[in-house]
Amino acid sequence: MSAPHATPEPAAERLHFIEERVQADVAQGLHGGRVHTRFPPEPNGYLHLGHAKSICLNFSLTQRFGGRCNLRFDDTNPTTESVEYVESIQRDVKWLGFEWNELYFASGFFESIYEFAEELVRKGLAYVCDLDAEAMRELRGTLTAPGKPSPFRGRSVDENLDLLRRMRAGEFAEGARTLRAKIDMASPNMNMRDPVLYRILHADHHRTGSAWRIYPTYDYAHPLCDALEGITHSICTLEFENHRPLYDWVRDNCSTPHKPEQIEFARLNVTYTVLSKRKLLRLVNEKHVSGWDDPRLPTLSGLRRRGYTPSALRTFCERIGVAKFNSTIDVVQLENALRDDLNKTAPRAMAVLRPLRLVIENFPEGEVDELEAVNNPEDPAAGSRKVPFSKVLYIERDDFRVDAPKDFFRLAPGKEVRLRYAYFVTAKSFTLDPATGEVSEVVCTYDPATRGGNAPDGRKVKGTIHWVSAAHAVNAPVRLYDHLFAAEFPEEVPEGQDFLVNLNPKSLEVLPNAQLEPSLAQLAPGKSVQFERHGYFVADALDSRPGAPVFNRSVALRDSWAKIEKKPANAKPASGRK
Ligand code: ATP
Ligand code: MG
Repeated sequence: MSAPHATPEPAAERLHFIEERVQADVAQGLHGGRVHTRFPPEPNGYLHLGHAKSICLNFSLTQRFGGRCNLRFDDTNPTTESVEYVESIQRDVKWLGFEWNELYFASGFFESIYEFAEELVRKGLAYVCDLDAEAMRELRGTLTAPGKPSPFRGRSVDENLDLLRRMRAGEFAEGARTLRAKIDMASPNMNMRDPVLYRILHADHHRTGSAWRIYPTYDYAHPLCDALEGITHSICTLEFENHRPLYDWVRDNCSTPHKPEQIEFARLNVTYTVLSKRKLLRLVNEKHVSGWDDPRLPTLSGLRRRGYTPSALRTFCERIGVAKFNSTIDVVQLENALRDDLNKTAPRAMAVLRPLRLVIENFPEGEVDELEAVNNPEDPAAGSRKVPFSKVLYIERDDFRVDAPKDFFRLAPGKEVRLRYAYFVTAKSFTLDPATGEVSEVVCTYDPATRGGNAPDGRKVKGTIHWVSAAHAVNAPVRLYDHLFAAEFPEEVPEGQDFLVNLNPKSLEVLPNAQLEPSLAQLAPGKSVQFERHGYFVADALDSRPGAPVFNRSVALRDSWAKIEKKPANAKPASGRK
């Protein structure tokens, strides 16, 4: 059971437990004082936020202690792996801002891994077993009952060697035999009850083709790859803690050149999402999302398309720290890391998402006023731009109310507000659409003396709203995203139910006719911008065309407009649980 909402570690210089351990190892001269880590993805899906945590951890250790970090593809299951995944993983690691030292594939070590198997057989530490998976399971015992030895456990070394070679040569049917370690069928650790080292698989591999008819298991191949690459600290998630005795067994019984150590840390879980390639693959295959790069997914390609920056993700990983116990991080922490990053770097612009026409009665027809707007108040070097102002504007539908309550500080009949960077306006009248009963146009007057946003007579207004000149506006689709899952812990479902029941049917809303200030037409795909009063948006890298951008909302502003408004009691907060 997960403990919700771990509090972030203070960002101070305190070392986390893995750093402490590595520091101590270096001080003692263990592994010759070297630090060499690896990030070992299986190329069976796209990388997600959990992998980002592992990447940041492995690479930052070597940055801190002056070591090396490899990228190793753990490609030992040919049926689920592909070149597409291999390529996307390399792209994503680089995008996150890391350069590996060496690039390896477990399959590149297949020959050595096999030779170690013959060594184990010769030492009497491995045997060929003819039991099928079910029979093997039956003999394995349970947590409370010891297992029983396989009837093939006593085969001679010669017979085992002969059978292993014939397994390799492809003489036997898939699943007919396995190579098993001979350890201890009574071990309290189930992983030590003669685990499988090799299985027969008549499947072609994306790198080795048809060269192999047997493939090593993760538990057998992983320590050997670590040893062959000279890895000193092999970092993995907590599920592998009770595999460590097997890791050590393989390492110590094979005459490897070097003896790495496995260290486990808590995997990352985040509220309102799932971090498992298997589950993400289902969402993609069953078309609950548009692909691996759907902006609602926690994949790195989805987050990138959503407008997440590498530095925001690195900051997030740093802030949540590295722990020994599993917990779930509030998604708000992820969103805050992005806000903090984009607040400093994203230019500001005005965009009206749900447009309402505002006609300024006393503004000269055909005239255009160019108003000065600050590009980024957090960054004086970003300068300013000119925004065209004219007689007909668009304002946000929500910024006008016919019957406004007392604390509604935006536009209403008879009320005066400031138009951002422009003038004070006072609403005079409005028209209703006879078909819908909704307001279709508001007529107002402006005070020319308030140009720039201040009244010379010192008169104050309480509200400032944004606007776009109708004649100059760029029409663009804007996609608003919400959490992909409506449940805080989507994987916690009643017995017999599927995590898909927790999908959020309202995770995507498309506003087809947002009106944007003209400077946004030229925003390069993949670039971020703050739509004032709304949040951070990114020009979609795939669907934008020159002069015709499509925007994705990356994250709403912290105290977004909608939240200040009194929401109906059943409304869901925009960004997770507080
Ligand atoms: P998944 O369950 O999503 O398939 P995995 O562990 O099987 O994840 P791998 O490709 O084998 O995926 O993982 C590569 C590395 O990333 C491993 O070292 C693994 O421990 C780490 N990793 C995977 N998921 C997480 C996570 N949620 N938090 C932290 N590290 C993770
Ligand atoms: Mg895995």
